[in-house]
Amino acid sequence: MDSVLAGAAGWRSGPPVGRSAEEVLGGLPWLRHALDEALTGTDGLREDAGQEQRLSAVVVPVFGEDGTQLGACARLRKSELPGPEAAREPQALCPGAAEERRAREHLEHQTSLLRATFDSITDGVIVVDLARRITAFNKRFQEMWGLTDAMMEERDAEKALASVEPWVTAPAQFIAFIRQGFEPSSAYRDYIVELRDGRVFECGSIPQMLGDAIIGRIWSYREVTAERQALAEQGRLLAAEHEARERLEESFALLDTFLNHAPIALGFIGRDLRCLRINDALAALHGRRREDDLGRTVREMTPQLAPIVEPLIRQVLDEGIPIIGLNMTGEGPGTSGEQRHWNVSYYPVRSASGTILGVGAVVAEITEEYRAQAERDRLLREAEEAIRVRDDFLSIAAHELKTPLTPLKLHLQMLKGQADASGHVVAPRHVDKALAQLARLSVLVNDLLDTSRIQAGKLELTTEPIPLREFIREVLSDFRGTNSLHSLWFEAPDEPLVIRGDRARLAQVLANLVENAFKYSPSGGTVRVTALRMGTEACVSVKDEGIGIPKEEQAHLFERFFRARNAPISGFGGLGLGLYICRDIIERHGGRIWVESEVEHGSTFHFALPCL
Ligand code: ADP
Repeated sequence: MDSVLAGAAGWRSGPPVGRSAEEVLGGLPWLRHALDEALTGTDGLREDAGQEQRLSAVVVPVFGEDGTQLGACARLRKSELPGPEAAREPQALCPGAAEERRAREHLEHQTSLLRATFDSITDGVIVVDLARRITAFNKRFQEMWGLTDAMMEERDAEKALASVEPWVTAPAQFIAFIRQGFEPSSAYRDYIVELRDGRVFECGSIPQMLGDAIIGRIWSYREVTAERQALAEQGRLLAAEHEARERLEESFALLDTFLNHAPIALGFIGRDLRCLRINDALAALHGRRREDDLGRTVREMTPQLAPIVEPLIRQVLDEGIPIIGLNMTGEGPGTSGEQRHWNVSYYPVRSASGTILGVGAVVAEITEEYRAQAERDRLLREAEEAIRVRDDFLSIAAHELKTPLTPLKLHLQMLKGQADASGHVVAPRHVDKALAQLARLSVLVNDLLDTSRIQAGKLELTTEPIPLREFIREVLSDFRGTNSLHSLWFEAPDEPLVIRGDRARLAQVLANLVENAFKYSPSGGTVRVTALRMGTEACVSVKDEGIGIPKEEQAHLFERFFRARNAPISGFGGLGLGLYICRDIIERHGGRIWVESEVEHGSTFHFALPCL
């Protein structure tokens, strides 16, 4: 409401916005009434005469683009009242003249309003009466259809229709549609017209009414070419996208089929290190199902290996060079502590333009192969060791068997020489030496025979109760006086210590331990033999002050052919069979044998047997 209207209405209570018309226009009831009428869709000219001036108002309804009424508008005009003379005179002279003038003014106003509206809208509009005469049109209509002024001047709708016919792509339907509209009908009609030059018009038509009577039809045309094109383009893009997606899904389905039936584990990691594709085999290595791994990061999928795997994948993404055949070791799911082995390769995956989209991972489990290889390596090492032991044994055996032969031959030759020279007198010294060498030979041969008996499980025992103290004393008596370098001591408790065993075999064990104690104490010293009761067992120990045995070799001492590395062949001859035989004999008696030793500080061999 402007200030003129506010003044005329006598409104002085501030800005009228938001206040009701009833309130604001309290001083102009006739105008409020006219506005009420206009709000029902009718327009008009209203006036009121006051003291000094006449007020008149054009009141029109206001419609939106879609045809709905938005409100009503009033334009107020003030004019001075003529003097009493003047007023009286013309009215007296021409009582209807003022009324007519006002009506004409109103009509002119309405027409100009309509014209302006008509020409300013962006739709092309034409009005045709029932006689098919063009009663109104706007410039836009003329432009849209390229109709000349001359043609429009003729006002002949049929003629205008004929002239636009060649423009239309489907003229027959278009003409039928228009002609249908020439018939009086209250229906709203619409139609899409496509023109040969590519333009598209949306056509709508409504009847033109005069009161209740249909007097013609109003046609409006709106160019929708761009919208149509955009719509068509959008449709085309949608279809293309749909097709592309279908094709992609098809190829993914194909890919998944291949992936899932592949005998090795496969996956595809995106640039953000998230899993985009994975097959059952690879997901199973993570202890999950394929669906559960999709979208997870490398770290989420395999937290243990992530510190190794992530930098490798990043390297492939950065450099585009594959990493092939990497051996990885780790724990698999649900196998606590068990190490598994994989052969892993990473390949860059590129788009058609060469951009690296991600990394393809190929993982082959090689735990079995790895174990088989480790087993093969172990067997190979054992075989090599066995060959080495055999070779060592052969050279030692040859040496050991040959050593007594030379002196034996020498002594026998001397015996023969003496016999030849002095008749039948033979020096006992030579006989003793020859016998000693023979004894050495028979020990070696017996050891070999015992070993093969043990191997064949044929070493038999003939057992009897043995009072240990007397028995040990008897065995040791054979050693007394044979060795000037060493002294031999024996200690045993007074209490009786009786075991059950094979006298000859147990004597062989004890003799072997004492011989070793002498043999491996090249600088002499005391060899102490003790017998003790240890609970239910009798324990016999042989202690020397010799070269000792390296710690790491002690566990192998009782194996066949084993000789410690600090026991060189020269000076310490032996086949590495004595302790092996001792262990077998003791264990056959239900006992056990072990050693305590320190290099350079001597060794103590113990064996324990159940007491009777
Ligand atoms: P060998 O005939 O070689 O003596 P043994 O089976 O009796 O065979 O002994 C095996 C190995 O144990 C010996 O070669 C030696 O290296 C070591 N050994 C045995 N007894 C002793 C000991 N008292 N002191 C140091 N080493 C010993």
